[in-house]
Amino acid sequence: MSRVSLLEKVTLTLEDFVSAKTKNHNIMENTSTDDSLIKLYRFDRDKFGGIGVTASTNIPLGTLILIDPPILLVPDVEEESILQNILTAQVGPPGASRKKFNALVDVYANPPHKKTAKGIIRTNGYPTIGAFVPDMDIPAVGGIFPILSRFNSSCIPNVTHRYDPERNIQAVFAARAISEGEELLTCYVDPTTPSADRKAVLLERFKFECTCDACHGDSVDEHDLSRRRISSLDDEIFEKIRSGKYNLALDAINLRIKLLKDEQLDSPEALLRTYNDGYQCCDHSGDHLKALDYLRKVHEMQSMCDISKSKLEEIKNRLQALEEKAKCKA
Ligand SMILES: [Zn+2]
Repeated sequence: MSRVSLLEKVTLTLEDFVSAKTKNHNIMENTSTDDSLIKLYRFDRDKFGGIGVTASTNIPLGTLILIDPPILLVPDVEEESILQNILTAQVGPPGASRKKFNALVDVYANPPHKKTAKGIIRTNGYPTIGAFVPDMDIPAVGGIFPILSRFNSSCIPNVTHRYDPERNIQAVFAARAISEGEELLTCYVDPTTPSADRKAVLLERFKFECTCDACHGDSVDEHDLSRRRISSLDDEIFEKIRSGKYNLALDAINLRIKLLKDEQLDSPEALLRTYNDGYQCCDHSGDHLKALDYLRKVHEMQSMCDISKSKLEEIKNRLQALEEKAKCKA
């Protein structure tokens, strides 16, 4: 099982999958769909009796684990008859062509209720910001990605994923170093919201009780406190930079990075945002050397959580310009 509501903003892609080799962090080399690429994961039975995804080898931090193109992109509609028409147009008529779609879990289908397109989409869909429904000139709010749909959830996830509307793919990255045999876990909800809220949403929307280490045991309150701080610091940092309190902003940036590490939420995706704040802060305050340090980190993190070459190129150009600027000052 694996699911994120299409209509919900999260902070937050079986047989014909595309996977990527890794070895190093140079993801630009790993985006090919060459058959010779090494598969880094396998499908396994999960603790719920469904299908989960497991690392089939040790996976270094920032590795591009897989690229998943959608089998379906849907607009913001819930009407079953309309969804059936969209399915027919994109996947095929009811029957063999829908095998892969119909194999996905529908948590709302308890006997005697059968699976519905709406139920499968609500259970397995991921947001697709910037996408359009094929052959219809309307935005696609979400898509069904056959491999990513099999990932289970944890509030201490070990993968992140990012949708690239230009290439119409989900790219899944290692948020930390992952050992062979470890289950690959994403987070269906914002992990910085309180545990009780996360558990309530997961139970209501996805029909399971989260028992991850951040939701279970004696330190739930402690985790909640740290995570609330991670969330509030984001606004504080922005506010301090905006009002020119650069030293206070840097203190807040360092604290946020520490808390992200303590909570094991220090994925390149999460750090990228905070390092970028550090860059903005030092750039505004005129400390070009420090700004350069932060921008180098931004570049490194970006290369470990995004396959958009244009974005990486843009940061590289900014880096070069800043290096020139710092040289002139020196
Ligand atoms: Zn949890």
